[in-house]
Amino acid sequence: MIDKINIGGHIWGIAFDAKRANAAEYQGVVVYRDMTIYLDDTLCRGRINIILWHEIIHVILYQAGLQEVKNHEQLADALSHGIDQVLRDNPWLTDMEKE
Ligand SMILES: [Zn+2]
Repeated sequence: MIDKINIGGHIWGIAFDAKRANAAEYQGVVVYRDMTIYLDDTLCRGRINIILWHEIIHVILYQAGLQEVKNHEQLADALSHGIDQVLRDNPWLTDMEKE
């Protein structure tokens, strides 16, 4: 199972820990101090992908110094669903380096 992800040149951990991920009734959470994204491993794969993208977007905004952006959660939700759909429906986007 994947346990690391490079986001903007920084290596973040990915931990599948339902208890920690659900701590505040979320299905995933970023713990910035630990540089770790916690995900609920009891979810289906599709839902995990969306939640992972949601947390990645939080990390991108955090690393860009944009923690104060308004409607952070709405932005992360909209982009996570949008990115997941575009990548799913356009697999050539992730195959570009193979060409
Ligand atoms: Zn969030």
